[in-house]
Amino acid sequence: MPELPEVETVRRRLVPVLEGRGFADVEITDARLTRPLDPVEVARELEGERVAVVDRRGKYLIVRFESGRALLVHLRMTGSFLHDALGQLPDDPHRRAVVRLDDGSDVAYRDVRRFGTWLLLEPAEVDAYIDARVGREPLAAGYRARHLAEELKGRRAPVKAAILDQRTVAGVGNIYADEALWRAQIHPLTPAAALGPDEVQALHRGIRRALQGGLRRQGSTLRDYRLPDGGTGGAQHEFKVYGRGGEPCERCGTPIDKIRVAGRGTWYCPSCQRLEPVAGEARRRL
Ligand SMILES: [Zn+2]
Repeated sequence: MPELPEVETVRRRLVPVLEGRGFADVEITDARLTRPLDPVEVARELEGERVAVVDRRGKYLIVRFESGRALLVHLRMTGSFLHDALGQLPDDPHRRAVVRLDDGSDVAYRDVRRFGTWLLLEPAEVDAYIDARVGREPLAAGYRARHLAEELKGRRAPVKAAILDQRTVAGVGNIYADEALWRAQIHPLTPAAALGPDEVQALHRGIRRALQGGLRRQGSTLRDYRLPDGGTGGAQHEFKVYGRGGEPCERCGTPIDKIRVAGRGTWYCPSCQRLEPVAGEARRRL
């Protein structure tokens, strides 16, 4: 599933394509994309809207219109965009929607697994909808370790489950959670509330570094991740643990192990990321 680095990379590519452009003609051919709303009706509502800003919060792409309305796109597993400047898209059985822009170009949305969603929100709904679902942006300049500490405080859940919760920190998914925990040298099953201040600091840094690394490589290409110009990302070549079961840890040489945490495949180094017995103050907090 695309996580913050992937969605942010897509956003950056969509900015020059969409900003300032009008939606001249919209066709939504998959009812799952807009359910429970009628796709034909949503398409009609979108026609005539002009894009002010292409924004992102967590894993949501937010196409903000001059009218104040916003189209919230979640790519889920396999959603992607393709821009064709000439308005001559090749055939694609997995295409779910096409937006013809007022410069004659087309922006197509494809989604093999069909879990992605398009939600059109009225001006008064946008911020409340996002704020109820998405926590702080980890790459924002003002994001501090104390913000992460506040979110982890009192939570018995494994730290990996806690940081997968989008309200803890925005945009971290299964890949970058594992990468961040390896960087911080924290076992993914450590209860969130048992982390000491130094560990929270290390995790804060680990999350930011893992995401920045992904962003630098234009995201990771697993399954169907594609950029709007058809390109792919290369971050998968730099994963430290994710998907690397049995390979040596870059730090200590121990083979990377795979377990399940919160129902998700989880990779970690059994030497660098030890599960410490919960002690002292941390236990009392639990
Ligand atoms: Zn190691």
